[in-house]
Amino acid sequence: MTTPATDCLFCKIIAGQIPAEITYRDDQVLSFKDIGPKAPLHELVIPLRHIATLADGASEDVELYGQLMVVAAKRARESGLAAGGFRVVMNAGPDAGQSVHHVHLHLLGGRALAWPPG
Ligand code: 5GP
Ligand code: ZN
Repeated sequence: MTTPATDCLFCKIIAGQIPAEITYRDDQVLSFKDIGPKAPLHELVIPLRHIATLADGASEDVELYGQLMVVAAKRARESGLAAGGFRVVMNAGPDAGQSVHHVHLHLLGGRALAWPPG
């Protein structure tokens, strides 16, 4: 799906219908603090356009997915994590534990992160 989904939590955050601590916005993406942080820095970077899952990724979305990564890096730098390190993760589908069906890149940092993830 590529149009706003009325039942989508993140589309509602984009529309300002649900409050969130917004950290960045441009004409393609939005970043905000995760409500249940798993690390000292835990932000989500999402496309303004509703895409349910990375499994729907298409060649027309290359620039959009690139912008998600660039914004994550910008937020990591602004948060002082460029030297110490950080992680970006995108969960897709039930085995990966995706719980919100609007594409989102997790930006995690501020502590040592175990590898591999569970
Ligand atoms: P997923 O499990 O789909 O990869 O990640 C969904 C993320 O969205 C979780 O880390 C969860 O804490 C976060 N989340 C769920 N509901 C809300 C909300 O209402 N506001 C914010 N800011 N984050 C949320
Ligand atoms: Zn959505």
